[in-house]
Amino acid sequence: MSGLNNIIIVGGGLGGLSSAIHLARHGLSVTLLEQNETLGGKMNEHRMNGYRFDTGPSLMTMPFVLDDLLTAAGSDRGIDLPLIPLEPMCRYFFPDGVVFDASSQMEEMIAAVTRLSPVDATGFQRFMDYSRRIYDLTAPVFLFTPIHEWRRILRWRHLRTLFSLPAIDPFRTVHQGVARFFHDQRMVQLFDRYATYNGSNPSQAPATLNIIPYVEYGFGGFYITGGMYRMVDALTGLAKRLGVTIETGVKVEKILHDGGKITGVRADGENRPATHVVCNADVVTAHTDLLDVEKSLERRMTKLEPSLSGVIFLWGIKNTYPELRHHNIFFCSDYTGEFKEIFIDKQVPSDPTVYIAITSRADASDAPPGCENWFVLVNAPYLAPNQDWPTAVQMLRTSVFRILLQHGFDVASRVACERVLTPLDFQTLYGSNRGSIYGISSNSRSTAFRRPGNRSRNIRGLYFAGGSSHPGGGVPLVLLSGKMAAELLLDSLVHH
Ligand SMILES: Cc1cc2nc3c(=O)[nH]c(=O)nc-3n(C[C@H](O)[C@H](O)[C@H](O)COP(=O)(O)OP(=O)(O)OC[C@H]3O[C@@H](n4cnc5c(N)ncnc54)[C@H](O)[C@@H]3O)c2cc1C
Repeated sequence: MSGLNNIIIVGGGLGGLSSAIHLARHGLSVTLLEQNETLGGKMNEHRMNGYRFDTGPSLMTMPFVLDDLLTAAGSDRGIDLPLIPLEPMCRYFFPDGVVFDASSQMEEMIAAVTRLSPVDATGFQRFMDYSRRIYDLTAPVFLFTPIHEWRRILRWRHLRTLFSLPAIDPFRTVHQGVARFFHDQRMVQLFDRYATYNGSNPSQAPATLNIIPYVEYGFGGFYITGGMYRMVDALTGLAKRLGVTIETGVKVEKILHDGGKITGVRADGENRPATHVVCNADVVTAHTDLLDVEKSLERRMTKLEPSLSGVIFLWGIKNTYPELRHHNIFFCSDYTGEFKEIFIDKQVPSDPTVYIAITSRADASDAPPGCENWFVLVNAPYLAPNQDWPTAVQMLRTSVFRILLQHGFDVASRVACERVLTPLDFQTLYGSNRGSIYGISSNSRSTAFRRPGNRSRNIRGLYFAGGSSHPGGGVPLVLLSGKMAAELLLDSLVHH
């Protein structure tokens, strides 16, 4: 199939690496250009003063998607990339002082829910059945199929989904969907939060997103031995082994086309010919900065609402806190107010929910002896007018210390070193549209269809892979996006 085809991939995030592997294993000539010196995009790592941090994803879900990619590349996750199941998956701290351990072991989880709120034990089991049903019905269509390609959608097994609308619950919001199953507001708060894992607001996003808890509880949540970034190392190694040419420190300035068809890219002031381009750069940024397209198309793209973003504190902590687990969440007391501030007012929350991942629990070498590496994430809005990030960072740091102290963790004087990342950094470092971290938000029922597909409708030979294109953000979905872009490209060669 190689022949005269010459494929350039713009961006070496997970979507770009996934596409590169799927294309190269079919013998195609693939060159991947990444603007940064390191690959992996938002899946990145940082080292300072003897501490190691993952700076992006901290939880791996749907491990079979990664397995599928590794197998396609002739590898084996068990050998190359050992995953550690996390138990408990997360320790939750509620404002009333209650501590709740969420487990992917159903019996453990039911026992924990029963301890917290006995009346909700059966509600939890019903909620999981409901979440699994949404997964069973929607995943084949919305996750594993390029839904913008009608030829592929109109298959009998996919039509089942369209005839099962009530079961996939698109007309309620996530919050309304969750609230039907639980009496205790802490349970509602816990399961509402899952909407934020694809960057959306539980009070706006359709209840179909209640698929996410099943993805986590049904398939488990994992950490990768040695750090999440080992996935990037493994995928880079496989891509190279399959013959992909990888160039880092090369920023693509333009994706070139002759009006209807891809001709190449311009990078470092030089035109490089290509028959096909897979764009792993953010789709909206690509349409505003990299592609010359009609203004109406550019406007349509910029109207897509970005997902939420975050402020991250990487803290080298000179102490250990045995009461904390690998994943910890400290809930705020007014989460409706928190979501209003983030999604409506576009300001950082005054009383935030705080997420802390400590990988030195699994890998002692991630911190010096007697110390811990804390990745602290607070949800924040995407970039909008009237935001003052230096002031917001100071305010959030103070809030995080206050909230931790309320739970008995006095850490302010224990921070030995710090690095902060804000939405401005996500925009500058990775070209994320307005600093979003999951691409496009799912705050409306039509997002799944309005989110750009994996193949350009306007320019032949142009494909999209990554969180801002179908099926959306998050590690497994982005790997699938890369696969779908590659499959559509391969299809076009066969049917040419
Ligand atoms: C703080 C944080 C926490 C997260 N937590 C989780 C989690 O726990 N679990 C989970 O599943 N997901 C999580 N995510 C989401 C996940 O990281 C992303 O969905 C995924 O990594 C995005 O991959 P991507 O390929 O779409 O894009 P990116 O990672 O953004 O990659 C795009 C690449 O393209 C490059 N690029 C852009 N423009 C150009 C150009 N003009 N020329 C050359 N190169 C270019 C960029 O530099 C970048 O390397 C998190 C993200 C963040 C930021």
